[in-house]
Amino acid sequence: MRRSNLFVPTSKEDESTAQVRSAELALRSGLVDHAGAGIFSYSPTGKRVLDNIADVVREHMDAIGAQEVSLPKLQYAEIWRKSGRWAEFEGEMFAFENREGKDMCLATTHEEPMADLVRERVRSKNNMPLALYQIGGKFRDDHPRNGLLRTKEFSMKDAYSFNSSEEALDEVYQEMREAYIEIFEKLGVDYAIVDADPSSMGGTASEEFQAPADVGSDEMAYCPAEDCRFGTLDFDETDCPECGETLVESNSIELGHIFKLGTRYSDPLDLTFDTESGEEKVIMGSYGIGISRMIPALIEQRNDDDGIIWPEEVAPFSLSVVPLNENEEIIEMAEEIHDRVGPSEVLYFEGDTAIGEKFAESDLIGVPAKVILGNTFLEDGELEVEFRDGGREFYEPSEFFETYA
Ligand SMILES: [Zn+2]
Repeated sequence: MRRSNLFVPTSKEDESTAQVRSAELALRSGLVDHAGAGIFSYSPTGKRVLDNIADVVREHMDAIGAQEVSLPKLQYAEIWRKSGRWAEFEGEMFAFENREGKDMCLATTHEEPMADLVRERVRSKNNMPLALYQIGGKFRDDHPRNGLLRTKEFSMKDAYSFNSSEEALDEVYQEMREAYIEIFEKLGVDYAIVDADPSSMGGTASEEFQAPADVGSDEMAYCPAEDCRFGTLDFDETDCPECGETLVESNSIELGHIFKLGTRYSDPLDLTFDTESGEEKVIMGSYGIGISRMIPALIEQRNDDDGIIWPEEVAPFSLSVVPLNENEEIIEMAEEIHDRVGPSEVLYFEGDTAIGEKFAESDLIGVPAKVILGNTFLEDGELEVEFRDGGREFYEPSEFFETYA
């Protein structure tokens, strides 16, 4: 992508949303635009980041056999009345009457429509285990807070498992838990796993994946030891039961939540299957990850004075190319990198903007590495790659293309 073609809707700090670092950087780097209280538009770079996060999640869901679907975000009240949650979500749900006078809502979550989709289709033990997931928008009429952290429209991955026994549910729950650990490791976010209170969803067990961050609206005590992911809501606990390290209290951002729902939804929604001795209730689990919320969580944990520091898996571009002058050989090499590594991977700062501005913008956007083409290239024929953390490497062109193209 040539910088001159890239649409970057940068804005000055917006007083209503930029009270936190993640919102300030997301707005200033042109990742998002503030469309209204609690609503954001994603720019081309923002959409790339969002898609990259979704792709990591999708890859790990597919790997454990979950199948992707897309359910309506516009729903009738009936299924919500049946589960008893129409009233429960009152105030938080965008509910309205359609032109026929029927109550409708915008999706806050999808347990009900998912159960509706599989009812009568899952009829025997042989149809299970079944795990379905989707990635897309949810709507909650929450008080907008802390920029991108609490918004009225947000993107989630929500998965649901349908099982024939508690033991079968335990197995899927464990697989999901492992997949979540791999996802969060790959996304480069620091997090802890906290035993949560399952009562809000009416289930039997649940765990939250929480990212320590000052601006988070949750609180936890967690183990700061590297690779230990223990977290707890029991603030009397002082030492980590897994490694002995002293626990640290912190605000946190909820990134994911996994639930054993049991028959909480299959009871009211009549989700049954046939056995030799008659009908039995399907046992459900539900598993969410905040896709759009991952963006402010990552920015809160990964930024410096210059801007955002994206992990490679998430970054909107893997490389910036910055020619230091208009020398013919330099421009030829810049064009070659752009074409061979690929316009979707490279942000090419061509044109006559000041070099300092090009460097500053690349760092602000959070591109993990810059290829700097100047005297080193002209004199030694080597490509200088400067990483976002300050590290530096030099490559022969052939070696460079083997690594990046
Ligand atoms: Zn520990």
